[in-house]
Amino acid sequence: MALNSVTVRVPAKVNLQLSVGPRESNGYHNLVSVFQAVSIFDDVTITKSHAGSGVTIAITGDQTHGVPEDGSNLAVKAAHLIGEKFDIDTDVHIEVKKSIPVAGGMAGGSADAAATLVAMDALFKLEATREELLELGSQLGSDVPFMIAGGTAVGTGRGDQLTAALSRGTYHWVFALSSVGLSTPAVYSECDRMRAELEVADPKVSDTLMQALLSGDPELVGKSLSNDLQNPACSLRPALTLVLEVGREYGALGAIVSGSGPTVAFLVADEEAGLDLAVALTASGVVGSVARATGPVHGARVI
Ligand code: ATP
Repeated sequence: MALNSVTVRVPAKVNLQLSVGPRESNGYHNLVSVFQAVSIFDDVTITKSHAGSGVTIAITGDQTHGVPEDGSNLAVKAAHLIGEKFDIDTDVHIEVKKSIPVAGGMAGGSADAAATLVAMDALFKLEATREELLELGSQLGSDVPFMIAGGTAVGTGRGDQLTAALSRGTYHWVFALSSVGLSTPAVYSECDRMRAELEVADPKVSDTLMQALLSGDPELVGKSLSNDLQNPACSLRPALTLVLEVGREYGALGAIVSGSGPTVAFLVADEEAGLDLAVALTASGVVGSVARATGPVHGARVI
C-alpha cells in the first residue's frame, strides 16, 4: 500500500567546540564545529495532499513562537529542494511538532529541514543516497547535514563537511533556555567586531577534546568545551555570563553557550547531578526555563 504520511524524529544539537576562522571576503567564516546530537526532538510529519496544492506547513508543540508558517520556513525550502532534485510534484502538508527551542543555537530550523529531506525521501520512495541527502542538506544550511547524521561529529568548511568523531559513553546535559532568541548573523557580526584588531588563526580541531571524547570521561570533556561565539553572544546578552557562573557554581563539569546562543549548555556527571543542577538553576531565578537531555543520539529518522 502506498504511504500517505511519514513522521521523522530529529534531535537538537549542542556544539562541544565551535572555532570560527577569519571572516572571508564572501562574508563566510571557516569553521571547526564538533557537534553532539541531544535528546530534545522535533517530530516532522509529511502528508501527501491534493495535486496542485503545493507545500503547506503548520507548527504545533511547545516551541512555536517565532517560527514562520510560510515559504521562509526551512522545512518548506527543504521540501521544494528535494522535489526539484527528484523532479516530483511537491504537493505536501508539513506538520512540525516543535520541542527544540527557537533561535536558541540548537539548530532547530536545520533539524526540521533535515527531517523534511528524510521524510520526503521515505514518502515518495526516492531512494536518495546518504551522500545525496547530505549534499541537499548543505545547500539548505551548514548545520543540516549533521542533523541528518546525528551522533558526535566534526564539521569543517562551513561546518557541513562531516567526519564522525570517536566518542564513548553517554553525556548528560542541562540547558538553560531563554525566552528571547539571538540572531545567528548578529552574533557573527559581533564576533567580527570584537576581533577587528586581532590576528585570527585558521580553526583547528581540539586534540584535547578528541582525547576526552575517546576516554568517555565527562569531567575531561567538560574542561575541553570551547566556543568562539560565546564572548560575542555574552556581549550582546550580558545576562548569559551570570547564567554560566551560576551553573559552574552549582557543580557543572562544563558550561558553554550553545552555538550562537542564547541557550547555555551545562555538562554534568550523571542524571542525578542533572536533576540537582536543573533545580538549582530554576531556584536561582537567573534562568527562564531548563531542559535536560542526553547525547549522543541518532540523527533524523523515520519513526
Ligand atoms: P543555529 O543553531 O543553526 O544557528 P538556531 O537554533 O539559533 O540556529 P533556529 O531555531 O534554527 O535558530 O531559528 C532561527 C530562525 O530561523 C528563527 O528565528 C526563524 O525565524 C527561522 N526559521 C525558519 N525555519 C524554521 C524552523 N523550521 N524552525 C525554527 N525556526 C525557523
